[in-house]
Amino acid sequence: MKYYKSKIWRWQQKEKNQNHNGLAGSFVVRLYQEFLDGKTTDYIKRIFEKEGVRNWDGGTKWQATTLMSMLENEKYKGDALLQKSYTVDFLTKKRTQNKGEIQMFYVEDDHDAIISKRIWECVQLEIKRRKKYLEEHGTNSYSHRPESNSFASKIICGDCNKVFARKGWRSSTGVDRKVWQCSERYKVKGVMGCANRHVEEETLIKAYLMAWNALVENREDFMEQWTEQLQSENLLEGYRAEKFIEYTDGAELLTEMDTDFMLKTLDHIKVFEDGTLLVVFLDGTEIECKNEEE
Ligand SMILES: [Zn+2]
Repeated sequence: MKYYKSKIWRWQQKEKNQNHNGLAGSFVVRLYQEFLDGKTTDYIKRIFEKEGVRNWDGGTKWQATTLMSMLENEKYKGDALLQKSYTVDFLTKKRTQNKGEIQMFYVEDDHDAIISKRIWECVQLEIKRRKKYLEEHGTNSYSHRPESNSFASKIICGDCNKVFARKGWRSSTGVDRKVWQCSERYKVKGVMGCANRHVEEETLIKAYLMAWNALVENREDFMEQWTEQLQSENLLEGYRAEKFIEYTDGAELLTEMDTDFMLKTLDHIKVFEDGTLLVVFLDGTEIECKNEEE
């Protein structure tokens, strides 16, 4: 019992110390940044584990759910919801969530913030935005294993608004092709669902690169829109505008796909029956590309 008690105390103490000497601060800051850069907590977990980033108790195992609760935790912006939980059983130290039995106190600027209020708010808006995206496009993952499938959940059907899925096709010459088609196409066995066209992955890559390069080359034309957007009441919109100004500043044109950069910039690509691809960026800019190859 004594040991257990001291273990709790040590853990709390350690977390407190790390918060204040910046050790923990570094991975919290990194987590918030990676999330705003378009990565999911699943992907961030894999990156942290690959790089051997250490958590509170020095271990290198991470849970996506833990990362998500860290993203939603107001303590990182310096505020504290006091009495969030309280001890029910003195002997077992079992805690239950405070459901109003004890008044909650919200304290602003309770301690040193690791994350600025602006970035914290942006992350909350991004969490909401992704939830809406999943509902709208009938998928349960915002981006699934982008290391091997960059466009997962990012190709949207211009007919039914649902996500496209990738299929491997083998042509008569034995060359493997990656082709995307609407996930609603054969949803019911034997019944033809959504009849929208398919599209080659190569074409999608070209469209993304072309559209991004159009932003870079015509930066001056977009500057007015971005500058205005910086003042937006929606902090996430302002943040995206700031980032697009930064990314396009003196930027070289892209010549090949860089998945992590794509995640930072692309919202989705919409595929239309007539071959038009609409590239929609995270700042809200839409660029239309005609697919003339098929
Ligand atoms: Zn469709």
